[in-house]
Amino acid sequence: MTDQTMYVILLGPPGAGKGTQAVQTAERTGLLHLSTGDMFRENLRNGTELGSLAKTFMDKGELVPDDVTIRMLLERISREDARAGCLFDGFPRTVEQARALDEALGEQGNEITVTVLIDVSDEEITRRLGGRVSCASCGSVFHEIFNPPKAESPCCDQVNMIQRDDDKPAAIANRLQVYADQTEPLVAYYRQADKLSSVNGEQSPQAVGEDLLAALQAVSD
Ligand code: ADP
Ligand code: ADP
Repeated sequence: MTDQTMYVILLGPPGAGKGTQAVQTAERTGLLHLSTGDMFRENLRNGTELGSLAKTFMDKGELVPDDVTIRMLLERISREDARAGCLFDGFPRTVEQARALDEALGEQGNEITVTVLIDVSDEEITRRLGGRVSCASCGSVFHEIFNPPKAESPCCDQVNMIQRDDDKPAAIANRLQVYADQTEPLVAYYRQADKLSSVNGEQSPQAVGEDLLAALQAVSD
């Protein structure tokens, strides 16, 4: 499927399952998984200036300013390993980011192949974010009830699980509002460009993954 350059965007509210799907889809397609949230958290762990700037916004559930986010993402996609295509998870999140991405890909003679909206209700989102935990060692994401870590795992065992600061209730409410105000307009943006597809996100991760792969196959022929 990836003989041609594919630039795929996973769109959806926080907690829709973008990260979960991106990891398994990247493995199956060979596309490079790029998560701006992961990039900011990595900067924070490495103690960079960008990391501490991003933290002031992330902790409140606000978006990191467009100029900073766009610069970081465009630098990343200009590298050699992104030439064969990417799977964007959590970017773009504003119309300004979407326009900057279109422009940058256009300059390389490329374009977005498809944007897949992972459709999940607000009630389900709240359940998912409330139980999201990740492994302190490797960063793999689990859910306390829907996808619990295995007791016998050498790395991702229960005691090694941490909750993100922005998955606490006050930040969750704000993030859903920020999604509705700033990110949801991207659904119309990509629909107008005839680049929108959607999958039902309220199925098992495996079933969502199959539908996602089918959506990618539909545009890669
Ligand atoms: P989630 O998986 O819940 O959607 P992410 O890991 O994608 O969360 O993002 C966590 C936080 O990082 C966001 O709430 C925001 O503060 C910041 N962030 C991530 N991506 C972007 C982006 N494209 N633009 C601005 N801020 C971003
Ligand atoms: P996002 O990157 O969109 O914020 P995640 O992939 O981090 O979302 O998923 C949010 C939480 O929901 C995680 O705890 C994850 O294990 C869980 N999750 C993801 N997909 C599903 C699914 N299809 N059914 C139930 N729980 C899921």
